[in-house]
Amino acid sequence: MSAQERAGTDAVSAAVRERHAELCQELDDHSYRYYMGRPIISDAEYDELMAELRAIEDAYPSLITQDSPTQKVGAPISVDFAAVEHLERMQSLDNAFDPEELLAWVQRVENEIEIDAYLCELKIDGLAVDLVYEKGRLVRAATRGDGRVGEDITPNLRTIDAVPVRLDESVRAAHDLLEVRGEVFMPWDAFESLNARLADEGKQPFANPRNAAAGSLRQKDPRVTATRPLTMLVHGFGAYESVRFTHQSQAYELMREWGLPVGDRYRVLRTVDEVRSYIDYYQGHRHDTGYEIDGVVVKVDDISVQRRLGSTSRAPRWAIAYKYPPEEVTTRLLDIRVNVGRTGRVTPYGVMEPVRVAGSEVEFATLHNANEVKRKGVLIGDVVLVRKAGDVIPEILGPVLERRDGSERPFVMPEHCPECGTRLGQQREGDVDLRCPNARSCPAQLRERLFHLAGRKAFDIEELGYVAATALTQPLEPAEPPLRDEGDLFHLTIERLLPIKTLVLDPDTGEPKIDPETGERKVVSFFANQQGKPKKTSEKLLEQLESAKRRPLPRVLVALSIRHVGPAVAEDLARHFRSLDRIAEADEEELASVDGVGPTVARSIVEWFEVDWHREIIRKWREAGVRMEEEGAASGPRPLEGVTLVVTGSLTDYSRDSAKEAVGRLGGKVTGSVSKKTDFVVVGDSPGSKYDKAVQLGVPVLDEDGFGVLLEKGPDAAMEHRLNS
Ligand code: NAD
Repeated sequence: MSAQERAGTDAVSAAVRERHAELCQELDDHSYRYYMGRPIISDAEYDELMAELRAIEDAYPSLITQDSPTQKVGAPISVDFAAVEHLERMQSLDNAFDPEELLAWVQRVENEIEIDAYLCELKIDGLAVDLVYEKGRLVRAATRGDGRVGEDITPNLRTIDAVPVRLDESVRAAHDLLEVRGEVFMPWDAFESLNARLADEGKQPFANPRNAAAGSLRQKDPRVTATRPLTMLVHGFGAYESVRFTHQSQAYELMREWGLPVGDRYRVLRTVDEVRSYIDYYQGHRHDTGYEIDGVVVKVDDISVQRRLGSTSRAPRWAIAYKYPPEEVTTRLLDIRVNVGRTGRVTPYGVMEPVRVAGSEVEFATLHNANEVKRKGVLIGDVVLVRKAGDVIPEILGPVLERRDGSERPFVMPEHCPECGTRLGQQREGDVDLRCPNARSCPAQLRERLFHLAGRKAFDIEELGYVAATALTQPLEPAEPPLRDEGDLFHLTIERLLPIKTLVLDPDTGEPKIDPETGERKVVSFFANQQGKPKKTSEKLLEQLESAKRRPLPRVLVALSIRHVGPAVAEDLARHFRSLDRIAEADEEELASVDGVGPTVARSIVEWFEVDWHREIIRKWREAGVRMEEEGAASGPRPLEGVTLVVTGSLTDYSRDSAKEAVGRLGGKVTGSVSKKTDFVVVGDSPGSKYDKAVQLGVPVLDEDGFGVLLEKGPDAAMEHRLNS
């Protein structure tokens, strides 16, 4: 190296060296906390720091020392437990974060040696343990520690039901020695009940099953571990004597026979494509396993080949962990606000520093109610762990207590409605939820009701989306909103719509959106264009309101936002009463006698009709021409009276809903499951198991043509078209 080159390297090294040292220190600290079960950053953040360190070391190999986190395993052991040396080193795993990295590993391996088969298994997010059996008896259990020396946790491990303290009698004598490696973890349902128990005892719940497993296993008092629902699955072995393992899979099968807990999801696969399919399958079914997995481990199955491939100081060359995208991240909880729902329920939600997780940016997460905020122990200003799994809505798991600096403050549930200022209260004593009692005019409640009544199961008014609903209930101008309540909806005219100016709100939170250019809150003239003429939206809205007036009775019922009256109950009510007036007149007893309507629903309907302004809605809708009876209600024939049918598979001319409506109009009922009482099962394309059930029970089966005959000519005619006899 020339003097100039050396000078160049050194110049870079000063800054880089400092960052390198900083990263090593940080990663060591994080590792320590993580193995204690109290991490303060997410795994994704840890992996990022590690990737940065690796990149520096790739560029400047002279910085690599044995002590670097890239070269070593785990964390130093704690003084709470006795140190024990493993018979064989316990290693970590190298990672692949995408298919290219996996392929690169496969190529590296296959360049060196021919591979017959790969063993693929789930990467369980738990805690690695080492169990030593002598003559079939468990003599010692230890954590992984730094890979060479672990912590003696034998009494704790003995409390785990899944771990045999003796191996099977028949083989015991044959085993002088067997060192087993496995993962201790807590299944999801056990984790949830443990957290519920901790919350009942007023203790801080665990943020995730891994922390719960680590915290539970590393207890000084094994009696505490014994109360924690831990389990274990085997994923390897260390030293062994008086037995011969030729393949990883064969070792698993033998260990299973000896009574050790071996999972049944591992597969021995021949090609890379098969390995990819396995990985893809579990990426899609990540949440179906019952426990937390963070990837798939791919291992060379043949143990002699494993030996020839060997390992680095940190990880075997014959295995790789394919990591799935992280579902948990940390971010700062900037605020806790509340929103007001359709029924006036006031729900706190967290506003976070936006963070990417599971493929989307997350900024808000519901906190359900004030008790939940307390149970999670989160303060405004906390760094919180956030989880977003697939399409599931994001959840704040809990605070990272160690990252508090004293500036955090508790959330205080407001006493007044943030939207209309009315004092909040409980609907019934003992309710966890607070509600805004100003049901009629609280703009938030009205907005939500409008949004609901425009939904597909109700009036199906596409143009009445969230922003339009806001514009109609909370305009900046005119001062008097065009809708006092939903009763006015069908009286809207273009003249009333044109002057409306409104703030643009975020549909998730109801917060005003900010114009990035001006920094001001966004204001739109929602229904008029710049020339003051109607926008297409306004014309469409009015057209759609016209057609909405002809919706069948069950949908009108859904649109009324009566508590507990969803589409199914609405169908039952409409079928029985056939007109809204008759429902309004019915007493609780009559309502409760309707098939599908219980006493709670009946009570709620009666209460709803007792409110003056509710009855006024109906009056105004009727005046505007909204249909309030089933078609032909007064006199029409009801050829399907008492007929129950089930639809399975997809029909060409009917959606599920429209088939239901057609049947309901004629007095019949569509239900969800086939029983002996079912009169017909209608099968469309790709029918499900309901078809088999119908055949099994001898229920008449109709195809779509037969269904047409049923609607047109009634059950007797349809019987002649049944597919089965
Ligand atoms: P690792 O978790 O990436 O992989 C090795 C471990 O996987 C093994 O020791 C074993 O316990 C486990 N494992 C689960 N299923 C397995 C299977 N079927 N076969 C073999 N092993 C299986 O590596 P690591 O060294 O234990 O930990 C590093 C990882 O831990 C990081 O990538 C990060 O995600 C996390 N970590 C997080 C923090 C934090 O502060 N959040 C700190 C340190 C480590």
